[in-house]
Amino acid sequence: MKVVIIGASAAGLTAAQEARKISATADITLVSEEKHLPYHRPSLTELIGDDTVEKRASFYLQKEAWFAEQRIAFLRGIKVTAIDREKRTVALSDDRTISYDALVLAVGANSFVPMSGALENANVFAVRTLDDARKVAAAVAKNAVVIGGGLLGLETANALKKKGLSVHIIELADRALPMQLDPEGSTFFAKILTAHGMQLRLGAQVDRFEGTGRVTAVLLKAGETIPADLVVFSIGVRANIALAQAAGITANRGIVVNEKMETSVPGIYACGDCAEFGRGPQLWMPAVKQGTVAGANAAGGSSQFKPDEYPAMLKVFGTQLYSVGDVGRDPQAVYETLRHLDEATGQYRKLYLRGGRLVGGILIGEVKKAGALSKGIAAGIDAAVAEELLK
Ligand SMILES: Cc1cc2nc3c(=O)[nH]c(=O)nc-3n(C[C@H](O)[C@H](O)[C@H](O)COP(=O)(O)OP(=O)(O)OC[C@H]3O[C@@H](n4cnc5c(N)ncnc54)[C@H](O)[C@@H]3O)c2cc1C
Repeated sequence: MKVVIIGASAAGLTAAQEARKISATADITLVSEEKHLPYHRPSLTELIGDDTVEKRASFYLQKEAWFAEQRIAFLRGIKVTAIDREKRTVALSDDRTISYDALVLAVGANSFVPMSGALENANVFAVRTLDDARKVAAAVAKNAVVIGGGLLGLETANALKKKGLSVHIIELADRALPMQLDPEGSTFFAKILTAHGMQLRLGAQVDRFEGTGRVTAVLLKAGETIPADLVVFSIGVRANIALAQAAGITANRGIVVNEKMETSVPGIYACGDCAEFGRGPQLWMPAVKQGTVAGANAAGGSSQFKPDEYPAMLKVFGTQLYSVGDVGRDPQAVYETLRHLDEATGQYRKLYLRGGRLVGGILIGEVKKAGALSKGIAAGIDAAVAEELLK
């Protein structure tokens, strides 16, 4: 049994690990375009502002020796350039071709950068890989512009601020974190950002850059010119579907999979950020879980993926944020809310109930009740019990 896994991050590495658990004899090959040992991608934003992150024991997910111990052939710095689904082979960038009985696509996603040619400027970046993060960390700059004020954009802004840069955040939405916060929470959180020196432009759109080969300013559609010697795009990701599409595997927003992580082509699985299972989020934990399922099934096991509710978490500018469930997003729904607000100590807690049952909540500042909040939502607790979460 030959299992080939493409991509060695959350999904691919876990798939390899699980395939070995299921089959002691399978011939397992893991191919990674990146030359590094698999690493913890969510730590990359922190790494921009703190060069000790790479030295942490938890940053690299496995040591070189582990692959030999597990008898997993790890080909790094090598890209899979094509899949031949009839011959069951993949072509590699070093001109080799390897065959498979089962293939796992764990090729992830890439940063979305809508301005064509923007990344050709020497001081414009998007952070997806360790190499990207190292480049931003090494950039010598004074005035940064972060395009996109989502969770990753704010983490990036936080890291750049730590390095002593002046930071503008350009956000298209007219309020901070509209997916994670209700309007009152957005206003509260925006105040924290500005109190920490962030220059937040909400409802703003980039028109163009000034400078040739090197950006000197970012021009907004509303007419403002922001001096910049470092620009970081953080406006979301797009699943890597080109390799699958070229092989005739059904892809939409991502590579379409069922609960067994099977694609439209028998013997080919997909998992993690490149896969589309409903409208699940592109996050580390679901990628690990999907990798477990894909790896098990590719090696002859039988496993199914069950999606969970994933909270949004953020730790920036001396505060923390936790948002989970339905925080008033449905305009047709009738919500009851419970709230605790203390501007002086930076505490905002808001709970959303529907039909008398807790369905979502936001914690800003102190988040020690985060676990209890998630459990309360899962249990559908009522207002009297939920009150405890505000204390
Ligand atoms: C800066 C940053 C911060 C983040 N913070 C968080 C966070 O706080 N919490 C959270 O849950 N998630 C976070 N994420 C998202 C999380 O990292 C991803 O959801 C997760 O990495 C997805 O894992 P994956 O294995 O599906 O794909 P990826 O991690 O994208 O890995 C895919 C791998 O496949 C390789 N590859 C692609 N094509 C080929 C090919 N043709 N041949 C060979 N190799 C190939 C790529 O080079 C890459 O190494 C963050 C992401 C970034 C970039």
